Amino acid sequence: MGASTIGRDLAPRVSARINTGLTADCTKLEVDEETKDLLMTRPAFGGNIMATIICPEHRPQMSTVRPGVMTLAEADTARKGVISKVPVAFDSADMNIEILEVVKETKAKVNIEDANILVSGGRGVGKPENMSTLENLALRLGGTVSASRAVVDAGWIDRNNQVGQTGKTVRPDLYFACGISGAIQHLAGMEDSEFIVAINKDETAPIFDAADLGIVGDVHKVIPELMKLLPITEED
Ligand SMILES: Cc1cc2nc3c(=O)[nH]c(=O)nc-3n(C[C@H](O)[C@H](O)[C@H](O)COP(=O)(O)OP(=O)(O)OC[C@H]3O[C@@H](n4cnc5c(N)ncnc54)[C@H](O)[C@@H]3O)c2cc1C
Repeated sequence: MGASTIGRDLAPRVSARINTGLTADCTKLEVDEETKDLLMTRPAFGGNIMATIICPEHRPQMSTVRPGVMTLAEADTARKGVISKVPVAFDSADMNIEILEVVKETKAKVNIEDANILVSGGRGVGKPENMSTLENLALRLGGTVSASRAVVDAGWIDRNNQVGQTGKTVRPDLYFACGISGAIQHLAGMEDSEFIVAINKDETAPIFDAADLGIVGDVHKVIPELMKLLPITEED
């Protein structure tokens, strides 16, 4: 199941009900040809190792996979499926939860997993007001702003925009890492991006190992210079 909000709720309930195991948040799935065990790989111990977990004693084998971890297969319109409607009858005794009120969030939620261009900010951005520099760059490029956990924890941006192990896994065409050190938990969420540009004033920052293009410098000087090179758009 997808490690989405619903999948994370449903998968453990189903696995407990059918008495089997569940490996959550997998990043790779393979099958052992001999035993037919599902080899479920996911980061463990704070992302410091990748663990491959099996469920040899029980069937079926279950896992959740975070959205964006695997590339989408090409749509095959020749394939047909049968849609079966399964009627479910509930009565009030089945309900553990009563919905008293539904309150819609007024702010439009951005989905960083769908963005082709992400301008991501880290602690090196300095202060919340400086996030507007990244927003301007994102606007100019037609992209979206995302962030490291340090920035989310500081409350400079919504948790929905966090990239990484405990945030979202993204693979945009272009990923700007601005003032982000490149901790393993951050890399886990963005290292499969098509093209990574890192801006950091510390030339030894690990983000440069993952970057296709590295710019050593102060993010507040580099971004304005970049902006001068980019054509002004209608949104500016
Ligand atoms: C279990 C666990 C899960 C985690 N999950 C996540 C996750 O999902 N996502 C995530 O991001 N982190 C996650 N973390 C936290 C992670 O380990 C790092 O602490 C975090 O990514 C650091 O964020 P940062 O790079 O913004 O800050 P820092 O590590 O503090 O890096 C700031 C960088 O900015 C540079 N800098 C400073 N000033 C400037 C400037 N003016 N111009 C240019 N560069 C500058 C510095 O050289 C430095 O490299 C997790 C940690 C744990 C233990």
